[in-house]
Amino acid sequence: MNIAAKAVNVVEEAAAILSKLGVAEQLYKGGDMPSYSPVTGQEIARLKTVSAAEAAAKIEAADKAFRAWRNVPAPKRGELIRLLGEELRAAKADLGRLVSIEAGKITSEGLGEVQEMIDICDFAVGLSRQLYGLTIATERPGHRMMETWHPLGVVGIITAFNFPVAVWSWNTALALVCGNAVVWKPSEKTPLTALASQAILERAIARFGEVPEGLSQVLIGDRAIGEVMVDNPKVPLVSATGSTRMGREVGPRLAKRFARSILELGGNNAGIVCPSADLDMALRAVAFGAMGTAGQRCTTLRRLFVHESVYDTLVPRLKKAYASVSVGNPLETSALVGPLIDKPAFDNMQKALTEAKAQGGTVTGGERVEAGQATAYYVKPALVEMPKQQGPVVEETFAPILYVMKYTDFDAVIAEHNAVGAGLSSSIFTLDMREAETFLSSEGSDCGIANVNIGTSGAEIGGAFGGEKETGGGRESGSDAWKAYMRRATNTVNYSKALPLAQGVSFDIE
Ligand code: NAD
Repeated sequence: MNIAAKAVNVVEEAAAILSKLGVAEQLYKGGDMPSYSPVTGQEIARLKTVSAAEAAAKIEAADKAFRAWRNVPAPKRGELIRLLGEELRAAKADLGRLVSIEAGKITSEGLGEVQEMIDICDFAVGLSRQLYGLTIATERPGHRMMETWHPLGVVGIITAFNFPVAVWSWNTALALVCGNAVVWKPSEKTPLTALASQAILERAIARFGEVPEGLSQVLIGDRAIGEVMVDNPKVPLVSATGSTRMGREVGPRLAKRFARSILELGGNNAGIVCPSADLDMALRAVAFGAMGTAGQRCTTLRRLFVHESVYDTLVPRLKKAYASVSVGNPLETSALVGPLIDKPAFDNMQKALTEAKAQGGTVTGGERVEAGQATAYYVKPALVEMPKQQGPVVEETFAPILYVMKYTDFDAVIAEHNAVGAGLSSSIFTLDMREAETFLSSEGSDCGIANVNIGTSGAEIGGAFGGEKETGGGRESGSDAWKAYMRRATNTVNYSKALPLAQGVSFDIE
């Protein structure tokens, strides 16, 4: 396969998309931070980074904007997000293509990511008329007790390379309807898609009319700029998506100044295939979950427990699917598996496979696919049959490696399933109602996402998204995740002529 020969010119195409979306050239040409396309490994831009002082000034401006924006009625704030949804619909093909160029996602996944942005906009528009609190029974006569939800302040957003735009939109759509301002530190591996998203938001702002200046800011830079934001007292909430390593650094820094955090960290997701499973369905779900996005989703299926009674039926079919999957240029619609993001990702994959072999694993696939260009890293997804869950299996390697293990006992496999640090996504394939319900019960999967007869990846925006344990405990996107972006006040109003104290306390002064 000669990716280079087949590839369109990613440098020219990225520049053409940015220009079409209205991103100023000086933001991505002649700067100090390179951006590479994993499609060919070429440098596609050089971005201007912000200094710590410039980052602080942008946060200051966002704080000022927040103070005006919080007074705009929420349904009116929703109108801005409705316009953002419209602009995203118009720009879907371009932004999706840029995601493919800069993050290496196959075409349908690049477009799918933009669709996810559109979906969260629709959700947030409805939400802008539903930011309601409770009215609560009070023990005192002539009193009313209620909850109100207020805007919080500047929401800091840190994102990972693998969902370069959707995660920003999950946070931004909610944060803006909740009356906050946003400051975004995108991944240094995908800064162009960030500039493009900001330009699309600016189009919506131009159509909306009056929006306080500085309401949405982008900080181009590396993790040091992320740390500037994390330490800034004008940022009461940081929603940080990335590795558990990053969360271990960011979490304590935020806790130290009592700031809030939404941590969306690494996953080590598992599936269980039971004796009664619909194996055709399991096969398709496992193939997409484990090989899709070249294994670079937080929800990627990494561990598969297969009951001994179906192991010899399912696993050979799975190996066949692995052998035949098309690895190649993500800009060509025929490819199902695109490139790894960079060389360190490839090296980590090879290291994990070497370790797995040393621990008794049998590896199918995993080798580099000739790309015609030394700087692009395409690999055959790897399926590793492991005698038990040990060594590299217990850690997330951000690459397409699926560890397959045989099980006999249901209770024991649930314990194994939960015996890793991360707790993001999980799934069971069974037609046995007892197994399915046990998996979803308090003694079943310990993850933030638990599915039945659906794979681990590909969540919809309507549900709250996030995971437990080393995944960080944060929730964003749907359901009542919005509450994390607001502050709650409990209000008690006394409309009586007396002043009774709660719990019958008396404090009578002369
Ligand atoms: P990463 O942790 O290397 O970087 C993520 C972001 O954090 C980047 O913007 C980076 O600059 C920033 N960062 C890193 N250290 C920082 C620090 N000390 N202070 C402030 N910012 C810092 O992750 P990555 O390689 O871009 O992405 C892959 C990882 O992200 C995987 O572990 C994956 O599971 C995880 N992820 C999780 C979710 C989720 O929702 N749970 C979603 C996507 C990706």
